[in-house]
Amino acid sequence: MTDNNNSKMPIIMIGHSFKYETEATLKLFFNTARFSFTSDIAEASGSDYVLTEAAEDGTVTVRVCLEGNQEEKTVKLPPDAEKKDFEYTICRLLFGLLVNRTGITPPWGLLTGIRPVKKVIDLIRQGKSEEDIYSQLGERYLAAPKKLKLAYDTAVNQLPILDRIDSSAVSLYVSIPFCPTRCSYCSFVSHSMDSAIKLMPEYISALCRELEIVGRIVKDTDTKIDTIYFGGGTPTSVSAEELRTIMEAVERNFDLDKVREYSVEAGRPDTITEEKLRVIKALGAGRISVNPQTLNDEVLKVIGRKHSGEDAVKAFELARKVGFDNINTDLIAGLPTESADSFRNTLDRMIELDPESITVHTLTIKRSASLFEKGSANSSNPAAEMVDYSIPTLMSHGYLPYYMYRQKNTVDNLENVGYAKKGFESYYNIFIMDETQTILGAGCAASTKLVYPDGKISRIHNYKFPYEYIRSFDKLMEKKEEVTECLKKIRSVQPR
Ligand code: SF4
Repeated sequence: MTDNNNSKMPIIMIGHSFKYETEATLKLFFNTARFSFTSDIAEASGSDYVLTEAAEDGTVTVRVCLEGNQEEKTVKLPPDAEKKDFEYTICRLLFGLLVNRTGITPPWGLLTGIRPVKKVIDLIRQGKSEEDIYSQLGERYLAAPKKLKLAYDTAVNQLPILDRIDSSAVSLYVSIPFCPTRCSYCSFVSHSMDSAIKLMPEYISALCRELEIVGRIVKDTDTKIDTIYFGGGTPTSVSAEELRTIMEAVERNFDLDKVREYSVEAGRPDTITEEKLRVIKALGAGRISVNPQTLNDEVLKVIGRKHSGEDAVKAFELARKVGFDNINTDLIAGLPTESADSFRNTLDRMIELDPESITVHTLTIKRSASLFEKGSANSSNPAAEMVDYSIPTLMSHGYLPYYMYRQKNTVDNLENVGYAKKGFESYYNIFIMDETQTILGAGCAASTKLVYPDGKISRIHNYKFPYEYIRSFDKLMEKKEEVTECLKKIRSVQPR
C-alpha cells in the first residue's frame, strides 16, 4: 500500500458500523489514501486490505494485510460490553496492527479530534491531577507522553483566559479572501488578486454593507464586541485605500471602546507596505501577523511565494518602526523540500526578531491544495524533528503554548501550536477553538458561529466566491434574522 495511491484499499466491516472511526484510524497512517468500505468478505483478498469484525458473542477481530503480509488480533469483550467498547476495541486493535506493519507511531495515538486541549481542560476542571490526566489519556488514546505534556501546558496557559471569557459579548471576523498568488499547500478559500481585481470595488462595497447590517444588529441588541479579527486570504492584499475603507466601516458601525483585541492578519510579507501598516494602526488594530512560514528562499520559491526571507524580516522591522508592539509570526514545519536545519535557522532568526507570539503550524495537505496531487511522503518529511525542536526552544525563550488545534491530513499527524509571551496570547485564537463565544463573520467565505445560551451552536456560511457573494448578497442577508434572534437570547439571559 503506498500513500496517495489512486486505487482504493478495501475495508471489510462485519457486524458493526464504525466506518468513520475506522477510517479516521487508517488516515493516521495513510493520510492521503482512499478506502472503499464493504461487508463482503470476498474483498478480503489481494495484497492490501483491512478486515474488522464484531461478532455477536463479543469477539472482535481485526486483520491487516499490507503488501501481502497479514497480521490479525482478536479480543473477547464481556457480555455487558457496550457499543462504544466495540468501537474503541476495533480502533485500538487496528492502531496496534498498523503501528507494527508500517513502523509509524502517530504521536497523538487515537486522539484524532481537532481540540486535544479541550479534553485536558475538562479533566483539570474535574479536579484531576497532572499525573492522573497523563495516565488517563495515555492509556485510553495511546498518545505519546510528550504530546500529552504539550496539551497540558497549553491548557494551563489557556485556562485563565477561558475563565475570563465574556460569553455575552461577541467577536467579529472580517474576511478578505485574496492573495497575490496561491501557495502550493493552500486549502483556504483564497482568490488570486489577478482574477479578483475587477470585482474588488463591488466586493468592498458589499462587505461594507454587510458590516453596516451586522453593526446595526449588534447595536440594536446592545451587544458588546470583544475582539475583531481581519483574516483571509491575506487582508493586506488589497490597497491601503481599500483597507482604509473597510476598517473605517468597522469603526463607523461598531463601538470599539470595549474591544479587548483587534488583529489584522497582514500575512504575506510581499503585501505589507508602510502605508498599509499606518492605516491599520490609525484605525485601531493593535495586533498584526507577519507570516514568513520559512525564511529559506528556495523553499519559498517551491511553495509559490514571490518574496524572499529577507523581505519577511524587513516587513517585520517595518511593522516595529510603525509602532506595532504586538506582532505574531507564523511558521510551518514540514514545507516541501525544507530540511530540519533550515527550519531551525528560521525559528532561531524569528526568535532573534523578538515577536510577541510565534505560531508553529505543521504542513497540512488537503485535497484542495495543488501539493496534494504530488502526494505527501510522510516518512521522509522531517516535520516531527522540526516540531520537537520548536517546543523546548520557544519555551526556553519565554514563549508559552496557549492554543492548539489539529487538522486532518497533517504531516505525521502533528499539531499547530500558538506560543506567546505572557500577556500576549490572542483571545480570538482561543475563542475560535472554544465553543463559548459567538463569532460574527462578514465577507466572502466568512462564517458566523452562533453560540446560544443553552450551548446549541449554529453556523451560517457566507458564499465562498466573491461574484456569488456580491450577486446573492440580499439572499445572504436574510439569514441575519437568526443572528438577531441569537443575540437577543444571549442578552435575555445575561443582561448588563
Ligand atoms: S497566504 Fe495563506 S491564504 Fe494565501 S494562498 Fe498562501 S496559504 Fe493560502
